[in-house]
Amino acid sequence: MNIHEYQGKEILRKYGVSVPNGRVAFTVDEAVEAAKELGSEVVVVKAQIHAGGRGKAGGVKVAKNLDEARTYAEEILGKTLVTHQTGPEGKEVKRLLIEEGCDIKKEYYVGLVLDRVTSRVVLMASEEGGTEIEEVADKTPEKIFKEEIDPVVGLTGYQARRIAFSINIPKELINKTVKFMTSLYTAFIEKDCSIAEINPLVVTGDGNVMALDAKLNFDSNALYRHKDILEYRDLEEEDAKEIEASKYDLSYISLDGNIGCMVNGAGLAMATMDIIKHYSGDPANFLDVGGGATAEKVTEAFKIILSDAKVKGIFVNIFGGIMKCDIIAEGVVEAAKQLGLQVPLVVRLEGTNVDLGKKILRESGLNITPAESMADGAQKIVELVG
Ligand code: ADP
Ligand code: MG
Repeated sequence: MNIHEYQGKEILRKYGVSVPNGRVAFTVDEAVEAAKELGSEVVVVKAQIHAGGRGKAGGVKVAKNLDEARTYAEEILGKTLVTHQTGPEGKEVKRLLIEEGCDIKKEYYVGLVLDRVTSRVVLMASEEGGTEIEEVADKTPEKIFKEEIDPVVGLTGYQARRIAFSINIPKELINKTVKFMTSLYTAFIEKDCSIAEINPLVVTGDGNVMALDAKLNFDSNALYRHKDILEYRDLEEEDAKEIEASKYDLSYISLDGNIGCMVNGAGLAMATMDIIKHYSGDPANFLDVGGGATAEKVTEAFKIILSDAKVKGIFVNIFGGIMKCDIIAEGVVEAAKQLGLQVPLVVRLEGTNVDLGKKILRESGLNITPAESMADGAQKIVELVG
C-alpha cells in the first residue's frame, strides 16, 4: 500500500527522522493558512499524489511570500499532473503539502528496499540525489552504494557510517546521517514497509540532515497489525477496478494492454499473460479468481473486466481443479447477461466439470470462441482484437 508524502513524513517524524515542518491542505485557503502558521520566509507548495517526478512536472513550487503561496496553490490544486510514474493519463491533485522552505546545500539519495534474492533489506545510497535513482543505476552505477542488513542485528552503526562516507557526507554531519539512517531503518521494520525512499535527503545550510521527500510503501499482508497505516489509505489514488476486486478478494492488477484475462491460479495467470505477449498481444490485467471462487465472485470478476474501457477482447483460461468449470461458465454468463458483451470472448476450459461448463456456455447464446489449448486461445484472442 502506498501513502502520501506528508503522511510518510508524519510517520518518520515520530521515529526521529528529521523532516521539515509542514501541513496538509485540501483547499487554497487552507494552503494559505498553513503557510501563515508555518511562519517561515519561504514555503514550498507540493502536490500530493501517489507518484514521484512531481518537481519536473510542475507539482513542487517555492513561494517567497503568502501571495505566491496562494498563486501556486491555485495553480497546482485540481491540476492533472503527468509524471513518468503516473502514466499518460496523469493524476489530479486533490491535496497539497505546504512545507517550510529548506536551504539545500546538497541533495543525496537514501533508500531501504527488500532484496528478494537474498531475502534481506538493503540500504542503498548515492551522492546523486534529486535525480531518479533508476537513471543513476543506468548511467553511473558506481555511484550507488549498498549495505545488506542482517535481520537479527539490524542496521549497524558501522554500516550506516560506511554508506555515509561513501556518498561523501561532510565529516561533521556523519553522526547525524547515521542517526537518520538508523531511525529510518527502525521505522521501516516496525511499520512493515516494503520501500522507504528518501530522494532527496539533504544537507542544509545550517548543518542539518533532512528528508525533503518521502516515499513509503507497506506490505499489504502486514496491514492487519497497523490500523494507523490503514487510516492513511487514499482510495482516490488507487485504481477503481483494483478496489472493487479487493472487495471480492480477487487478485487483480490493472495493466496497459487491451486483452482482458480471467484465469484461476497465479501461476496460470502469469503464464497466460506470457503467452498472450508471445503472440504479440497485450494483457489488460492480471486476474486470479482463486481456487474456491463462487459463481458470484466470477460474475464480479468478469464485470470488472467488462467495465474496463481499454478491453477489446477477453480470454478466459481456466483449469478446473478445486474451481469447477461450470461455476466459471455460470459466472461468465451471468455477468454478460447483466452488462452485455460487446467484445470477442475466447474461452479455454479444462478439468473438473468441463463438459458441463462447455454446455452452459454453448447454450447461453453468447458469442463465444472456444479454444482447444492455451496457445490456441491466445492466438485466437490476439487475432480477434486485431
Ligand atoms: P518529486 O520527487 O516528486 O519530484 P520532491 O519532494 O523530491 O518531489 O521535490 C522535488 C525537488 O524540490 C527536490 O529535489 C528539492 O530540490 C525541492 N524541494 C522539495 N521540498 C523542498 C523544501 N521543503 N524546501 C526546498 N526545496 C524543496
Ligand atoms: Mg523526490
